[in-house]
Amino acid sequence: MPDPLQNRPQFAIAGVGLLGSLLGWRLARQGYRVNLFEQASEHTPAAAAYTAAAMIAPWAELPVCAPGLFELGKQSRLLWPQWLAELQQQTGEAVPFGNRGSLLVAHPADQSELTDFAQHMQRAGISSPAQLQPVNGEQLHQLEPELAGHFQSGFWLPQESHLENRQLLVLLQRAIRQLGGQIQYDAEVRFGDVDVQVNGQPVAAEQWLDCRGVGGKQSNSQVRGVRGEVLWIEAPDVVISRPVRLLHPRYHLYLVPKSAGRYILGATEIESDDRSPVSVRSALEMLSAVYALSPKLAEARIIELSSNVRPGLPSHQPEIRQIPQGLAINGLFRHGYLLAPAVLLQLQQQWQLPLDISPADASVDAVLLQHALQQELQQELQQELPA
Ligand SMILES: Cc1cc2nc3c(=O)[nH]c(=O)nc-3n(C[C@H](O)[C@H](O)[C@H](O)COP(=O)(O)OP(=O)(O)OC[C@H]3O[C@@H](n4cnc5c(N)ncnc54)[C@H](O)[C@@H]3O)c2cc1C
Repeated sequence: MPDPLQNRPQFAIAGVGLLGSLLGWRLARQGYRVNLFEQASEHTPAAAAYTAAAMIAPWAELPVCAPGLFELGKQSRLLWPQWLAELQQQTGEAVPFGNRGSLLVAHPADQSELTDFAQHMQRAGISSPAQLQPVNGEQLHQLEPELAGHFQSGFWLPQESHLENRQLLVLLQRAIRQLGGQIQYDAEVRFGDVDVQVNGQPVAAEQWLDCRGVGGKQSNSQVRGVRGEVLWIEAPDVVISRPVRLLHPRYHLYLVPKSAGRYILGATEIESDDRSPVSVRSALEMLSAVYALSPKLAEARIIELSSNVRPGLPSHQPEIRQIPQGLAINGLFRHGYLLAPAVLLQLQQQWQLPLDISPADASVDAVLLQHALQQELQQELQQELPA
């Protein structure tokens, strides 16, 4: 009699957001039978990963990161280009990856925000120009000519990057299917004490990976949601090529360039599971910030307002937990893109998941990297940088 469990997936993944898609792809590449289950419908994505700005910004996030995440962020920063190249090789399509660093600015009245940031960097021992460049108004203008003239100082964080996350998610899901993996949408997964049910029916797998983000609350009461609101604008005549963060005593807002003259502006951070539409207050704050960055953006068209919920844990860092059916990975909070590749590396090194990640790719000789960056800096700024 045939064994009904013989064809069960080697890996079943709950949640097709950032972690679920990346894990499904890395496992399918290795030839494993992978089934993914996503609660949302295929054409109405619900993942925080879809709403995110997708900055990979270890330096800018350092003051608000749990200790240790900075190093993980730098590892991820090195793994992303390699993974995107592999994904492109497989699917024939590229995920745009912005590699020109990011800028931090503040209005003259809020200079203390920049001073606080500089002190934080100093305490963390970050002084190399390849990591942190103080820039004056003229240099800001050289880097981003469209920025309003009233920013007289700021920082350039040359190694930060950002990626086109919606394209990434589409390509990951396509790649999983090309490799024989199955993705089922409208499929709600619930973890019991022993079994796992999908839409009320038990589903067996050799190992389950729980990547449900905020949905993981069903089996882990420590998981909580932190609401984030963003706004998309279209401004084909305005060219801002790198993420710009506006530091302000009450909020920190950013503008991140996306493809086709579009920008995402965000993001609020509100302790709540509320997924209702963007509030008037948040929209006003974001819109004032965008106007302050460049008056030319006043003519931009608002094309989307959206909100979502980041998955947080009390430690404010990712946690990998053994569960009876496999592993639960959660707590990427506001740093999913910053941390996911490094978290997958931990899953490989500490939990023996066969993900085919070369640790060497995440520890490229930093000196070589800095040297290459220094050369780029010279080309980027036509004048001497302040000491
Ligand atoms: C506004 C905003 C801006 C952000 N900007 C950045 C940024 O610039 N840089 C950065 O690094 N990070 C950013 N993030 C954070 C990042 O998006 C998250 O850390 C990341 O998406 C978490 O990944 P995840 O896979 O754990 O969860 P998610 O991406 O949320 O995926 C979880 C998936 O599980 C599904 N699911 C839930 N319950 C169930 C269930 N019962 N059954 C089946 N499926 C289920 C969900 O529908 C979802 O698709 C941002 C987040 C937000 C909201």
